[in-house]
Amino acid sequence: MSQTAADNQTSVDSRAHEVLRETFGFQQFRGSQLAIIRSVVGGDNALVLMPTGGGKSLCYQIPALLRPGTAIVISPLIALMRDQVEALTHNGVRAAVLNSSLDAETRRQTLSDLMGGRLDLLYVAPETLLSGFMLERLSEIPLALFAIDEAHCVSQWGHDFRPEYMQLDLLRERFPGVPRIALTATADERTRREIEQQLLPDGGQTWVSSFDRPNIRYQVGVKHNGRQQLLQFIRQRHAGDSGIVYCLSRKRSEATAEWLTEQGIEAIPYHAGLPPEVRRRNQERFIREEGLVVVATVAFGMGIDKPDVRFVAHLDLPKSMEAYYQETGRAGRDGLPASAWMVYGLQDVYQMRQLLAQSQAPLAQQQAERQRLDALLAFCESPECRRQSLLAYFAEQHDGNCGNCDNCLEPPATWDATEPARKALSCVWRTGQRFGALHVIDVLMGQANERVRQWGHDKLSTFGIGGELDKRSWQSLFRQLLARGYLQADAEGHGRLKLSEGCRGLLRGEESITLRRDAVPTRRKASGTAAARHPAGWEALRRCRREQAEAEGVPPYVIFHDATLMEMLR
Ligand code: ADP
Ligand code: MG
Repeated sequence: MSQTAADNQTSVDSRAHEVLRETFGFQQFRGSQLAIIRSVVGGDNALVLMPTGGGKSLCYQIPALLRPGTAIVISPLIALMRDQVEALTHNGVRAAVLNSSLDAETRRQTLSDLMGGRLDLLYVAPETLLSGFMLERLSEIPLALFAIDEAHCVSQWGHDFRPEYMQLDLLRERFPGVPRIALTATADERTRREIEQQLLPDGGQTWVSSFDRPNIRYQVGVKHNGRQQLLQFIRQRHAGDSGIVYCLSRKRSEATAEWLTEQGIEAIPYHAGLPPEVRRRNQERFIREEGLVVVATVAFGMGIDKPDVRFVAHLDLPKSMEAYYQETGRAGRDGLPASAWMVYGLQDVYQMRQLLAQSQAPLAQQQAERQRLDALLAFCESPECRRQSLLAYFAEQHDGNCGNCDNCLEPPATWDATEPARKALSCVWRTGQRFGALHVIDVLMGQANERVRQWGHDKLSTFGIGGELDKRSWQSLFRQLLARGYLQADAEGHGRLKLSEGCRGLLRGEESITLRRDAVPTRRKASGTAAARHPAGWEALRRCRREQAEAEGVPPYVIFHDATLMEMLR
């Protein structure tokens, strides 16, 4: 480095520190903040990947104050912009918002401040920025930089895709020489590549911070009675703590909040269906009060900066690994121990798959969504260290087990489920791929109830072949088969199961499968099964099957003259 460059850097560093202390009231930069600030002040583009709460804002706010001209910040959410601008003005920074929610007078005033060079930062919604009018105005004044917040919105693969973000590539041509800094908390490889291609094709440094949250204890369990499990978790581990409970629907958020309150845990709902003033009040209460639980849909949390959230609980599955990471990341921002707790069951898998199937999104995006849900399901079912798996998903190495998550503390037992899995798959096939898991389980377990008899399923070759597991174990097995993609559920949401392409190897006996044991699959006594009720006939049937199986070289429960299934297996 030449002497002048070194001097420049020293001067940037000391000015940056000065702004950090005097304007923002902090003593030290975190992680790579200073390095990023240096680079952007020097006029380079940057892509900043930093977890939520990591401190991305300062990475463009300080350069905005150190470079001449106004910084333009593009942000997708009006509420986020407002909060940021409020905080900045509070610190004496000249900042304003321009978006569609402003009245004519405020808008006029803001534009006049902008054109008169009286703004350090201007927050705009992408559609506002992209109007011909706005682009014209901006080309008339000196600009410090463009900051593109929540940059993953440009990614079609991402969960928050916004078409307007794609058009931001015109900034490069219209404003050459103005550095662009893109920021996001979504760090998977694919999103990152898309951001680089779309927003920074002319290059720039990529800054990756660690996504590790060592103070969070991850725990994922099987749902039996979700609410009761939640109550127990809060009482045992987080009595009197602030926490967020996520669930899928508005109704459930309200009912759960009410129920928790009845049980002596003060809880309030939060979802997009509540009147704005109730939402604002509840959010403010949550931030200000101690020991309050908010039961929310995903509408809650973006931009919530409460450091002492002690737990985040998922009563329903989030829709992807990214969503899980973001939502659980709201726990323990103060660095003190916190929990990320989740329960999920067969029903959740159905529900999420159904939601995705009903999606109106373009095909490529639907596919991406499915893959991201699959990744989450694989994570749920994995017996490996949760923190390691989570970080691995974000392409980050983590050395050794964390020693703190459920899987590390109590390594789950696994069992060879190959044979039961094949029986289950065969039975789905034999019942015509038109039934849900519960019915198929009845057939497997030889429950000749009315529905089973009505469909003649008590006459099937797979009737009663599953006496070795109890009902709960079968449910666990179906959930895992579904989660791992051996089975798929229908799009209409009736829970009807179908075989997937992927089950071929298993059915043909070329593959084996190991599953988590979430409830000990107990050996059942023969009572209650078809075998017990029709001992003689059963024996005869079994013998016949065995012979047929030997003749055709396939396991007994998949044969029986199903030409099409046999075809498929070949
Ligand atoms: P992100 O946008 O990455 O989610 P923010 O920029 O909103 O994160 O910052 C999260 C919190 O961390 C804010 O309360 C912010 O004031 C605080 N923060 C950021 N940088 C520092 C720092 N260097 N020292 C202390 N607090 C910081
Ligand atoms: Mg942010």
